[in-house]
Amino acid sequence: MNRRKFIKNTALTSAGLTLGNSLMGCDEKSTEKNEAVTVASENDKKAKLPLVIATWHVEEATAKAMEVLQAGGNALDAVEQGCRVEEANEEGQSVGKGGLPDRDGNVTLDACIMDKNGNCGAVVYLQDITHAVSVARKVMEDTPHVMLAGEGAKQFAISQGFQPEDLLTEASKKDWEAWKVEAKYKPIINIENHDTIGMLAMDKNGDISGACTTSGLAYKMGGRVGDSPIIGSGLFVDNEIGAAVATGLGEEVVKTVGSFLVVELMRQGKSPQEACEEAIGRIVNKPNSNYKDFQVGYIAVNKKGETGSYSIHQWFSMTKFQDGVNEQIQSDFFNREGES
Ligand code: ASP
Repeated sequence: MNRRKFIKNTALTSAGLTLGNSLMGCDEKSTEKNEAVTVASENDKKAKLPLVIATWHVEEATAKAMEVLQAGGNALDAVEQGCRVEEANEEGQSVGKGGLPDRDGNVTLDACIMDKNGNCGAVVYLQDITHAVSVARKVMEDTPHVMLAGEGAKQFAISQGFQPEDLLTEASKKDWEAWKVEAKYKPIINIENHDTIGMLAMDKNGDISGACTTSGLAYKMGGRVGDSPIIGSGLFVDNEIGAAVATGLGEEVVKTVGSFLVVELMRQGKSPQEACEEAIGRIVNKPNSNYKDFQVGYIAVNKKGETGSYSIHQWFSMTKFQDGVNEQIQSDFFNREGES
């Protein structure tokens, strides 16, 4: 089941299990775990690492990242490999191959990656290359630049051995054609029409890296780039403090420099949960904010291995793999109107 369908279809079945926890301000289970990490001795803390968190319900991706970490890989390898799982998953219509196209039928990918030393790389408006996150890593490691766009990014990828392929699957083409019938040639901006994969990993040494990959807002205008490849908006890592990654309507994340904001709030002493909540607050509390029409969600981890997640609307979730448990955690959320 793809994440969009998941958000719609599992909404009711998950409600009984998760709402109580959500109402407490953050997931009970994760709070228990976080407390365990907070008070842990150095040895206990080591036992809780490595850890991986990701936006949405992506247990295969977090499992892959954890496999890399358990095999002694570093956090950067882990987030890249984890994101690649979703990029290759043709059923996921929001990332990599099979992503929904822009309003003209072109699939264009955005991705970025950031390591423990503050190095980063990004690609925007990348076409015909499935593993945008790996191209972003190549930009970071093999060029003097941070970001490559469009045809230049594609040519760079090909020069690095990436194979071009058509990313528009039959299923996504069909959905796009159906959308065109009624769409009046406008992108859809609602609370369900997006799902970036953002992933943060902390290796056994406590070093953090992050990555973010997306096909962006479905049926966006040609040329549109969201928050996901923008360092500080879609993703930010500061190995001294922690890291954050965003999903949702990128324009709103960019306007508040969301992921950087979450990390800076953690630097000021907020927990990852509190920092995510305040960053969402910056969006919904703007004068005339039309937040009821869109979704934004953040996940974050701090240097102690504490995690948090928060969104504007219900049904955002975080997948967390730590201490042998790979689980989906429903996020607490801001908008309580029409709660189910
Ligand atoms: N943040 C992405 C964008 O605006 C969309 C998403 O989260 O799926 O492009």
